[in-house]
Amino acid sequence: MSTNAQWFERAQRVLPGGVDSPVRSFYAVGGTPYTVVSGAGAYVSDVEGRTYIDFVQSYGASLVGHAHREVVAALVDVAARGTTFGAPTPGEVLLAEAMCARVAGLEQVRFVSSGTEAAMSAIRLARGYTGRAVVVKFDGCYHGHSDALLVAGGSGVAQMGLPGSAGVTAGAVGDTVVAPYNEVPELDERVAAVIVEPVAANMGLVGPDEGFLRALREECDRVGALLVFDEVITGFRLALGGAQEFFAVSPDLWCFGKVIGGGLPVGAFGGSRTVMESLAPTGSVYQAGTLSGNPMAMAAGLAVLSLVSARELEALAERVKGWAEDLEVALGDSGLAARVPHVGSLLGLYLSREGFEPPRNLREARAICDNGLYAQFFHEALVRGVALAPGAYEILFVSLAHSPQDLERTVSVLADAAGAVARAGSSAR
Ligand SMILES: *Cc1c(COP(=O)(O)O)cnc(C)c1O
Repeated sequence: MSTNAQWFERAQRVLPGGVDSPVRSFYAVGGTPYTVVSGAGAYVSDVEGRTYIDFVQSYGASLVGHAHREVVAALVDVAARGTTFGAPTPGEVLLAEAMCARVAGLEQVRFVSSGTEAAMSAIRLARGYTGRAVVVKFDGCYHGHSDALLVAGGSGVAQMGLPGSAGVTAGAVGDTVVAPYNEVPELDERVAAVIVEPVAANMGLVGPDEGFLRALREECDRVGALLVFDEVITGFRLALGGAQEFFAVSPDLWCFGKVIGGGLPVGAFGGSRTVMESLAPTGSVYQAGTLSGNPMAMAAGLAVLSLVSARELEALAERVKGWAEDLEVALGDSGLAARVPHVGSLLGLYLSREGFEPPRNLREARAICDNGLYAQFFHEALVRGVALAPGAYEILFVSLAHSPQDLERTVSVLADAAGAVARAGSSAR
C-alpha cells in the first residue's frame, strides 16, 4: 500500500511544494500532508486507509458534506450529456434564479470559475461603473489571489507573514488602500469600492462589531462608493440570504464561490441589474470565461441550494453555538485557554496558554495565531482522527453532514489534544 509520505514525495517532484494551493502543504504546522482518496459526508479517507472527521470541508466549498448522493446524481446526469459547450445552457439560468430568489437585492449574477475571479471582476466592475480607481480593503480579509487584492490578505498570506506577494507590482496595488477590520475608514470621492468579508473568516473568525457593516454602508453612500460583500464563505451558509439577510445590511455587489459550486470550481459576482449591465456585452466592462457557467458546476451548485433550507441553516447554527460553548469549556478544562468565536454556523478556534479576549482585527489575531500552539494542537488532533485546517488563520467548517455524535466525539478528541499540548508545554518549561 502506498503511504502519505510516498505520495507527497512524488507530488513535490512535479508540483511546487507538493500542492496546488499553499494552505494544503502543512508548511504552517510541519509534517507530511495526508493525501485524500475519498470523502463521504463529514469524513475523508487518505491513501493509508485512515479516516478523519473533516472540518476542512474544502475550506467551505462543501456545505452538505462530501459526495452527497443527490449532488453526485446531478453530476452523473449532466456528465453523460456533455460537460461544456461554449453556448448558453439552462443550468446557469436555474442557478442564477435560485441565487437571486434567496438574496434580497441580488438581481443578476455573472458566473466565473473561482472566488478569486469573482472578487477581481467585481472590483473591475465597480471601477468601471463609478469611473473611480481606489479600492479599500481590510487587513486580514482574503479576497483571492488577484494582484490588486492580495495585499494584507488573510489565510495563507497572513500565515506566511507576507505583506503581499512577490511578483505583484507597486502599480498593481497602488490604488488599493488597506484599513483595519472593524474600523470604518473615512472615504472620499476617489473611492470606487469598499470590499469586505462581512464575517472575516481568513484570520480565524472575526465577526463584525455591532453596527460596523451598517456604518460602512453609510460611509459608502456618503461618497458614492460601492460596497462589496465578499460572501465567498458566508453566502448561502450564514443564512439562506447570506450576510445581507443575517445583518440586514445590503451591499451593491456580492462575490460568491465555495458553496454555490457544490464542490466544483465556481465563483459568481452579482448586484442590481443597473450595475451588472455595465458588463460586456451590455456594457463596457469586459469580463469573460471559457468554462464560466460550466454545466457540471451549475448542476452541483443547484443541487446543493435545493437541498438546503433556512430551517436547516438555523438548526446548524444552533448546533454550532452549543458545540462552540462545549469546546471552549472542554479545551479550557484540559489546560489550554481557548476561545471559540462563532457567527451563525461559522466557527473559529484560538488557543493560548493564558486567558485572552477573541481578536477584533488582524493585529490582535496575529498575536494569538503566531504563538505556535496551533501547530502542535493540529497534529495531536490529526493523530486522533480529527482533521482541522493546517493553519491557525483558518476556521472550522461544520457541514450539514456532521452529526451530533461526530461533534460530541470531536469535543473529547480535541480536549485530549489540548491536554497533550498543555502537558508538552509544561514539561518543556
Ligand atoms: C476562498 C475565498 C476566496 C477565493 O476563492 P477561490 O475559489 O479560492 O479563488 C475569496 N474570498 C473569500 C472570503 C474566500 O474565503
